[in-house]
Amino acid sequence: YLFGRKKATEVAHVVWEQVIQKGDMVIDATCGNGNDTLAMLKMVTDESDCCGGCVYAMDIQKDAIESTSCLLDQTLGSEEKERVKLFNMCHSKMEEIVPENSSVRMVAFNLGYLPGGNKSIITASNTTVLALKAAESVLMPGGLISLVVYIGHPGGREELEVVEAFGSSLPVSDWVCCKLQMLNRPLAPVLVFMFKREK
Ligand code: SAM
Repeated sequence: YLFGRKKATEVAHVVWEQVIQKGDMVIDATCGNGNDTLAMLKMVTDESDCCGGCVYAMDIQKDAIESTSCLLDQTLGSEEKERVKLFNMCHSKMEEIVPENSSVRMVAFNLGYLPGGNKSIITASNTTVLALKAAESVLMPGGLISLVVYIGHPGGREELEVVEAFGSSLPVSDWVCCKLQMLNRPLAPVLVFMFKREK
């Protein structure tokens, strides 16, 4: 089932569906064109009674925030759109926007550059690791940090190393960390999942 899917993001969404519950708060740390934000919103909202959770979506690029907002306008009604909060900011500062005492079920990263956008604005190892530390601190037990890591561009493999080093350093008593890599597609994006155990 998983391996019949071609895109890494689609495989990630299948994993998210196993973790996210209706009513959850989740964070899209790299909202880009909004596709992942939209997928997350569908997972946290309950279509039958409109009682849903929320998505905090951030991107360092104003163009990306606009692109996400445009996709949401085209796809959602106004009530649903209110469940997404957009932030034009670096994901390393995510702790600043998460309300105190809130439980974040998932923080998802889709690293690299904005498809169809400025390829020089790209996630960087130094801020990615800060964002991972922030994600670790806001995540609830039973939550997930999910990453799609692209390795075909300069700096991509180094960023994967930083992500892997972070996941490897998390205590085994509290975290289950794994990666999914295509052996016969060496440049395919790598999926990394860090599950925080329930207490
Ligand atoms: N998830 C998006 C979607 O569904 O369309 C695609 C994300 S795209 C591969 C990566 C995004 O990360 C770009 O839009 C880029 O602007 C953003 N980005 C780069 N550095 C960032 C940072 N430090 N903080 C937040 N976003 C960043």
